This record gives sequence, structure tokens and C-alpha cells, in this order.
Amino acid sequence: MSRAARGMTPMMEQYHRIKREHPGRILLYRMGDFYETFYDDAVVASKVLGITLTTRGKSEGEPIPLAGVPYHAVNTYVHRLLRAGHSVAICEQVEDPALAKGVVERAVTEVITPGTVAIEEFLPADRGNYCLAVQQAEDGRLGYALGDIATGELLVGEDPTAVVLGLPGRFQVRELLHAEGLDEERWLAEMRALYPELHITPRRAWDFLAEEAERALTRHFAVGRSAVLGFREHERAPLRAAGALLGYFHELKSGDLAYVDQVQFLRQEECMVLDRVTVENLELMRPLRGEDLSATLFAQINHCRTRMGARLLSRWLLSPLLEVAAIDARLDAVAELLGQLELRRELEQLLGRLPDLERLVGRLGSGQTRPRDLRALADSLAELPVFKGLLAQAASPLLRELEAALDPLAELTALLQGALVEEPPAKLGDGGVIADGHDPELDRLRSLAHDGREWILALQEAERERSGIPKLKVGYNKVFGYYLEVSRGQADKVPEDYVVRQTLTGSLRYVTPALKSREEEILGAEERRLRREAELFEALRASAYAEHRALQANARALAAVDVLRGLATLAERRRYCRPQLLDEPLLEITEGRHPVVEALLEGDFIPNDLTLHPEREQIHVITGPNMGGKSTYLRQTALIVILAQLGSFVPAAAARVGLVDSIFTRVGASDNLARGQSTFLIEMEETASILRNLGERSLVLMDEIGRGTSTYDGLSLAWSVLEYLHAEERRRPKTLFATHYHELTRLEQDLPRLANYHVTVKEWADGIVFLRKIERGPAERSYGIHVARLAGLPPSVIQRAFQLLHWIEQSQTMDGSAPGAPAPARAQMELFGGAAHPVLETLRGIDPAAMTPLEALNLLHRLRERLDGES
Ligand code: ATP
Repeated sequence: MSRAARGMTPMMEQYHRIKREHPGRILLYRMGDFYETFYDDAVVASKVLGITLTTRGKSEGEPIPLAGVPYHAVNTYVHRLLRAGHSVAICEQVEDPALAKGVVERAVTEVITPGTVAIEEFLPADRGNYCLAVQQAEDGRLGYALGDIATGELLVGEDPTAVVLGLPGRFQVRELLHAEGLDEERWLAEMRALYPELHITPRRAWDFLAEEAERALTRHFAVGRSAVLGFREHERAPLRAAGALLGYFHELKSGDLAYVDQVQFLRQEECMVLDRVTVENLELMRPLRGEDLSATLFAQINHCRTRMGARLLSRWLLSPLLEVAAIDARLDAVAELLGQLELRRELEQLLGRLPDLERLVGRLGSGQTRPRDLRALADSLAELPVFKGLLAQAASPLLRELEAALDPLAELTALLQGALVEEPPAKLGDGGVIADGHDPELDRLRSLAHDGREWILALQEAERERSGIPKLKVGYNKVFGYYLEVSRGQADKVPEDYVVRQTLTGSLRYVTPALKSREEEILGAEERRLRREAELFEALRASAYAEHRALQANARALAAVDVLRGLATLAERRRYCRPQLLDEPLLEITEGRHPVVEALLEGDFIPNDLTLHPEREQIHVITGPNMGGKSTYLRQTALIVILAQLGSFVPAAAARVGLVDSIFTRVGASDNLARGQSTFLIEMEETASILRNLGERSLVLMDEIGRGTSTYDGLSLAWSVLEYLHAEERRRPKTLFATHYHELTRLEQDLPRLANYHVTVKEWADGIVFLRKIERGPAERSYGIHVARLAGLPPSVIQRAFQLLHWIEQSQTMDGSAPGAPAPARAQMELFGGAAHPVLETLRGIDPAAMTPLEALNLLHRLRERLDGES
């Protein structure tokens, strides 16, 4: 049955036809002054946008849900939909409704998705905006490509699932592409659960085929083979992901994509592995709880003056280097900038005036260039010789390299500077963008338009004189254009070349050939002026875009200068020291501090030392009360290593950092209800993943593992994990292991590379004071009840807890033969193994060596019956 037959209006039929082509997108359907959404789209839109959900007409007897937004505010609404992880198709009326015979013709004119949006106002300032394509590799790993359409950055790599699951957290990934039909894949389900706001776009499986990807890449980069771009023979999965991603970009983006001009590889052997859990636990980019971004490492170290600098810093932070020379090159540059205050200040001032060049180049390609972009481009290019002059004074090879990478593009600069007015308006449509003197034709059109009025006044004067009619006036109306008006009484005086146009009761209106020919010029001039300006502007844009490679290289070099300069400022403000990077597995930190806690505490932070070495102290078991500072100590160690390897100075008095190639953390109970798994299961999964992936250059942080289960299970697991880490002869990962299981401190006697440390506290009257110093040896007691007192538990509960603690400690020393729990709550004391069960008594009384197998079996039966009788 056709829709019409089912009572559907032709308009709704049109709606359904268009909607079918855009499944998974919210269709904004233009109706007069509104964009309407229908059905499920309306339900979603009303929820996300807080707009009223109503109904309109009926479909198959049911009212059709509808929610609309006014057309002039559509951008705000689109932005909100994108932020909530939806993509949007904008459907316009493509014919004049007044001329339409039936339903007004409509078509989708723009598709905006969270991962392909390039509109400046919709983009986060200090972070990239990435689209991620993932393709399973043959060995179970995942290949991926990450693209930022606003800057043209394209990164590819292949990593274990745990690392790829962390990419959306490391980079600002807003959209995920995968080959359709993968709904059963575990990694995809995990992505969905971990990042509910990630927009997931299934693409045709065909787009992910190797041949198709090869074609998409070679076509885009205009090269013969993808190998030229740096893909290795076996890197099939990243290649397939990159091809699919580029295909998607080309499909959605109307403008030119040539500014996506290089592929960068994120290869494991080139940067430190930070899996999702570690990035989250260490709060590198986002806090674990709440929205306060200042509680992140990124916020504390970011002193960049430009947005492209901030974005680059986040890249460096999430991909620390693994090569001493490369790290030292960055550290040399930071050290030099730290020492050269004047140079640093001047760079800071210059950088502070720069626009977001990286995104600006992206806009040049997309046709979204604004007049102010070109002016800003001209102004910043004009500063490049100054930048070069400053950087040329530097001794650091990296700063010199960045200096060499800057191309001032003198010709383009001169062209833009000469062509544009000093302060162009926001929009091209208003004109006034191109400077006088740049183009004779434009000048002529302008003077026509501008001078037209004066010319008319002058004409009025001249004609008054010529005709001797002092009251002659020049007038204008839409029908006749310009005319000369003379009262009836004076009509006989008009010169011969006047031609009558209109006769009114009291006056006559004339034109002259001169007036008519000029009139056309004057009226057409305005329109032609705007058209000419648009042409000239387009030519300027094209000239600038022709240099996109050099422009992008400039943007990247300036971003790097900004990051290095910002790191020098950081080192100065927070008194960081230069770390010494080594190619041996040692980690030695003197007076280390936690970069974020220190900043938030403002000065009261207690520094601590640390030495980890695979031969001597490979594992530290750290005990001490809650709130004592164990987690802070663990995290600060990892953060110092990350800072050192990204090329930053570190919060310590001295640091010797042997290269770490992966950091694994199992910190706290990060329950993830969204994943629908128990906290303990997650804890064990994370532990399993660490034990599987660690190597000799790993740094492992384990904070209270085993806490999520019963005491004895937990203790046994923590114990055996420690033995495993220690027994790994080949690997010997450096490990910090914070625990409340005091029993684990006994291991020091048996495991030679394991050492006990504790956080110190001082007992003070009835309570305790945290000293937050880490010292050698196990903690004397756990002080949990003291901390509970600090937290404000009622005194009676605290008192009773102390009483029970005393009793339990005694029972343990007496090898289980407890003297009976102190009243009250005697029955509960069974839990602690107080009174023995009759079955146990029987077992204790037998001598297995003196029994035949049959007797043993019979006894077993009897015991079992007894137990069954109880239940
Ligand atoms: P829990 O076992 O309950 O997790 P913890 O021993 O891991 O406790 P932390 O969470 O590291 O303790 O520290 C508790 C608080 O103590 C931190 O929030 C911080 O404010 C403060 N703190 C930690 N270390 C230091 C330090 N070295 N100097 C000053 N304050 C510190």
C-alpha cells in the first residue's frame, strides 16, 4: 500500500524519502521560518535541545511527533546536537515556495557530524576535534586513523585493543567509523559503553577494503603507492582505516581537502604506551571525578599562548618520546628559553598576537574563509621575519630547526597586505574588504557608487545654471529611476535635450541622455562592486591556499615554539628541574612533587624521594594509613616520568629517568557502572592486562589491588601478583605497590628486589597527624580507625572499633584460639573464627595416616550428612 493510500500527505512522503537517505542523522527539515524534526528525531531533539515536543497530523492513525527550531538560531541548536553526539542533515527548501506547484522542493544541502565539523564556533579551542576510523588487524590488534578535518592532521597506528580503547580519551575523538556488520565485536561494544557520547557511524565494509583504501589514499595524496606515504608492508589495518576515513571526509566536505597533506604514524616503538585506564587514572586530560579541568596535568602545564600550541602540547603529553636524543633536543630548547628571559618574553608577545593558523589554513580549503582570516594571515606572515630573527639567536638545534622551517612567504604577504584593508568587516557580503588602490576596476566601481550621490548633486547645480531654473530638483523613484523635476510654470524654460518622463498635476519630470547613462552606472555599481570584491577576495584566498603546505609548516613550527616557550615558563614558575634521561632502567627522583596536587595546595606540598632499580629495588610495597599520601606518591612518579619524556622539566630537585616505554596503572576502584561489570571484575581485568603487557621498561603502579573482594581472597591475589612481578626474571618491571594488607610487608624477607616503604604519621594525643613523608620500612599500623575518627564517625562506633581491633589482633597472635569476643555482638564473632564448628573438631581429632581409604570415605560421608542436616 502506498503512503498516499495510507493517508500520508505528499509533504510527509517527501520527508520520508529524504530521511531514508540519512539514517542515523537528525534531519532538520525546513518549513518556512522553522527547521522541523519529526518522529524519533523530534523526541531526541526535544530532549537534547529542551524544546517542546508537539504533534502534527497523523500517520497511520497515530499523531506524528514534531519539534522545531527557528531558522535564524539554527547554529546554536546544531551545535548542541553535535555536542550531544548526534549528527545532523540540514534539508532546505530549494525552490521559491511562491512558485512551487505542489510540495516545495527540498534537498539536503549540508551534513554536519561531530567528527567532521569544521565550523570554528563549534570546535573546542585547546583540543583537536577528531574522527577515528578503526579496522581490526589480523593479529587481533586494531589499526586506526585519526583525522582532524579542521587542521588537516592525519595520524595512523596499530595497537592492542586496550590502547585503542583509550584513544577517544587521549585525543578529543567525537566520531567513530567502522565497517558495518561489526555489531558483535567486543571492542566496539566497549567503545559504546566507555564513551556514550561518541557518535558511531557504520560505513560500507567496502570502504575499508585494502584496495579501496589504497585507491583513496593514492588519489588524495596524488602519489603512486601508499608506501610513499610511509606505510609499511604489514601495516594493512592502519592503511584501511586511513582510506576509509579520507573517503568519509571527501564525501562530507564540500571544499578542498588538499591541506590534509601528510600522514603521521603513531608507532609503539616511537612513543610511550599509555592505555585508556592509565590516561584516565593519571588525570592527564580529564579529572576522574567532576568537571574541574584545572585538576588535570594538561591544565597545570599548559602555558601556551596559541591554541595550536595548546593542541600540540596535548599531543606531546599523550605521546611521550622514547629516544634520549629527541627528548634532550626538546629539553635543550626549554633550558635555553628558560635562561633567556628577554627572548622568551618577546616570543610570548608575538605568539600572543597570532591567530589559530592551523585551523585558518583548514578554512582556506573549505571556502569558509572570512575576510578577517586573510587579514590575520597577512599580519602574522608579516611577523615571521621577526620570529626568525629572534630564533636565529638561539643555540638550541631544535629552535634553529624551527627557525629554518618558518617561511615568511614574502610575496604572498605583500599581496595580502596591499590588497586588504586594515580592519576588514566580519563578513564579505558587506564589502569594504579590499583596500583602495589594489584594483582599478574596483576603485572605479567604488567611486561610482560612493560618488554617485555627489555627482547627482553636482548635476542638479549644473542643470539649474544651464536652464536658469533655480528650483529644478533631481529626484528618484523605483519605476522611472533618476529624473529632473521642474514645476509646470517653469516648463517652457527646459533645454531641448530634456525628455519628458512623467507629467504630474503641478510639475513635470524629465531625463537627459547624460543622466540616463550615468544612472545605470550608479545603480549597477553597487552590485558590481560587491561582485568584484568577492572575485578579488576569492583570488586572494586561492593565492593563499596555493601555499597551504608552507603555511601549515609555519603553523606547526610556531606551535612547537609556543609549546617549548610555555614549558620554560612552567619550569620557571613552578621551579621545575631539568631531568636527566638515561638509556638504562633506573628511576631516581629527589624531592619529587605531584605537579597537580602541588599547584592546588599552593605551597604546602611535602616532597619525597624515590629510587627504583631492577637489580636492587625493583618493587616498593608502600603501606600506611588512608589519606597518608600513597596514591599521590604513586601518581607523581608516573607524572614525572611522562613530563620528562615529553621534554619538560619536572617537579623535583633532581631526577634521573631511565626511559620508560609503558606505564600501567591499577589505581583505586574506578567502578564503571556503564560497562555493567562489577568493580572487582574490572580490577582483575585491568590487572590481567598489565601482567600480560608489561616489559622490562614498564612502570607499574598498583594501588590497593584485591580490595574489591573478601579479605583473604584479596590478600592472596595481591600476594601472588607481587610474586609474579618479582619472579619475572626477564622483565623486572619497576613497580610501586600501595596496599593496606600489612601481611605483604613480610615478603621483603623472601624477595630480594622488593623493599618496604611507608607513609609517615605522628600520633598526637588521641589522633594522628599526616607527615606525608615516605620512609623505608613497613608501616607500624594502619590507622584506619583514626582516619575514620577524622571523618566524623560517632565516638561510640570508634570506641567499639578500637575494642574489636584489639581483640582481633590478639586472636591472630594466639593462632586462632581466641579468648572470646568482648561483649556485645558475640554471635558475630564467629566470622572471625572464634568458636570451632563440630565438623572441624572431628577433623582435628582424626589421624588420616591411620585410616584406610574406605574409612576415610565413610567419614567424609558422615561429615557431609551432618552439614546437610544443618542447612
Ligand atoms: P587512600 O588509601 O585513602 O586512597 P592515600 O594514602 O592514597 O589514601 P592520597 O589520596 O594520596 O592518600 O592523599 C590524600 C590527600 O593528602 C591528598 O588529597 C593530598 O591533598 C594530600 N597529600 C598527599 N600527599 C601529599 C604531600 N606529599 N604533601 C602534601 N599533601 C599531600
